[in-house]
Amino acid sequence: MYLYNSATHKKEPFTTHTPGRVEMYTCGPTVYHFAHIGNLRSYIMEDVLEKYLRYEGYDVNRVMNITDVGHLSSDADTGEDKMLMGAKREHKTVLEIAQFYTDAFFADCAKLNIKTPDTVQPATGLIPEFINMVQGLLDRGYAYIAGGNVYFDTSKLARYHIFFDHDQEDLQVGVREGVEEDANKRNKNDFVLWFTRSKFEDQALKWDSPWGVGYPGWHIECSAISLKYNGEYLDLHCGGIDNAFPHHTNEIAQSESYLGHPWCPQWFHVHHLNTDDGKMSKSKGEFLTVSLLEEKGYDPLAYRFFCLQSHYRKALVFSWENLDNAAGAYRKLIARIAALDPDDGAVDEAVLEASRQKFMKAVGNDLNTSLGVTAVYDALKAGTNDATCLAVIGDYDRVLSLSLTEKAAALRKKTVELGEIKATMSIGAGASITVTGEGDPAVDALVLKRAEAKKAKSFAEADRIRNELRAQGIELTDTPAGVVWKRV
Ligand SMILES: [Zn+2]
Repeated sequence: MYLYNSATHKKEPFTTHTPGRVEMYTCGPTVYHFAHIGNLRSYIMEDVLEKYLRYEGYDVNRVMNITDVGHLSSDADTGEDKMLMGAKREHKTVLEIAQFYTDAFFADCAKLNIKTPDTVQPATGLIPEFINMVQGLLDRGYAYIAGGNVYFDTSKLARYHIFFDHDQEDLQVGVREGVEEDANKRNKNDFVLWFTRSKFEDQALKWDSPWGVGYPGWHIECSAISLKYNGEYLDLHCGGIDNAFPHHTNEIAQSESYLGHPWCPQWFHVHHLNTDDGKMSKSKGEFLTVSLLEEKGYDPLAYRFFCLQSHYRKALVFSWENLDNAAGAYRKLIARIAALDPDDGAVDEAVLEASRQKFMKAVGNDLNTSLGVTAVYDALKAGTNDATCLAVIGDYDRVLSLSLTEKAAALRKKTVELGEIKATMSIGAGASITVTGEGDPAVDALVLKRAEAKKAKSFAEADRIRNELRAQGIELTDTPAGVVWKRV
C-alpha cells in the first residue's frame, strides 16, 4: 500500500523490516476520563489501517499502552497530573479511576467494532523497564539529573524536530496553556524521564528508583513498551496528530538514543475532529462520548460510518446534522443489503477476486476509506447475483468493520417476521419509513408525522400518533432501516 508518512511528509510505498510482518504501535488513552469521539476517531482509523494491512496479507503485531501514570495536563511537563485530577474529581483512588476508565474505553471500542490490539500494556505494569531505559540514557550521555529529576538532553541530538519545522513546533509550545518554565532544564525542549520532585506532594503512585522514589515521565512509557513487545525495529507508529509534538518527537529522541540506530521509519497521524464550537470534545456544552450518541438514539457504528466517509488526514467537522446524514445513509445501505437474497446463485470467485483487487487499489492509496465505502455501493450496482454481491460486501467489511452483512441478515430475519418490505421512503436526514404489506398513503403520512415529532423531541405527540394508529389496527416497529408498519 501507499501511506503518507508524517516523518518524511510524503506518500510512500509501505515497507516493513521483516518481510510480511508489521510491528505496529499505537499510543493508547490516558484513562482519567471517558474517551470523547474525537479521540475515538483516531482509534477507528488506526483499526481500519491494521485490518487493511491484514487484508493485504501482512501478519500484524499491534501493541498499545494505557497511560495510567505521569501524563500532565499540558502534554509537556507542566500542569496537573491527569490521573490525580480524575481521582480528586470522583473521590476515588488513582487505581480505581484507571480500571474504571480502561474498561469504559474498551467497551466504547467494542461498540465501534475496534479490535483490541494484540498486546495492551498499562504503564504502571512496566516500571522496571522504564527505569532500565532511563538508566541506559544516562549511561550513554543523553540524560542528566537536575533538581532531583532526570531529564533528556535534546542538545545531544543531531536532529530533534521531526514532524514539523522548528518554528512551527516552537509556536505549538507557545500556545499550550499553562506552560511554565522549568529552571532545571538545560534546553528549552528537554523533558522529564523520571520525576522524584514534583509539585504534587500527594502523588498517589510512586516507585523506588536509582534516583529516588518517584514516577516516570509520560513519553518514556511508549518507547519502553514498544521496545519490549515490538522489538528494536518498529515499522509503523500511530496516533492522533496532537501527539506528534512533543510526545512522538520525544519518543523518537529516547528510542534512537537508547538503541543507537534508527527506530521507526513510518508515522501515521490522524487529524482532528472539530465541532461547530471549534472544540474536539464538546458540542454546545455536551461532552461527546459514545454513551451520549447512544442516549440520543444513534447506533455507534453510524459514527464509524461517518468517520470512514472522510480521509484521516483531513480535519472532520462533527455536527448532529452531519451525523444524522451519515446515520440515514448507513441505515439505507443496510436496508439495501438486506434486500439481497443469500440463496440467489453461487458466489462467482472470479468476480470476488477482481473486486478485491479494485478495493485494494482504492483503499491502499493512503487509506482512502471513503473510496472503500463507495466500493460497497459499487458492488450493489455491479449486477452480479445476490450471493456474489453479499460475498464481496462481506469481504470489504473485513476492513471497514461496519457489520454490514450481520446487520442486514438481522434485518432480513426481522422483515420476514414482519412481512415483505414494499418500499423504503426517505423522510429527510437520518430517518426513513419502511412500508410493509399494503401501501396506504394516509398511514404513511401519519408514520411520517410521528417520525418528525420524535425528531423534534415532541414525544407526547409521537405517542399520540402511535395510539391513533393502534386504534386503526396498525402496529409500528422501529428497526435499523426505519419504521415498519403493518395491520394486525
Ligand atoms: Zn505514546
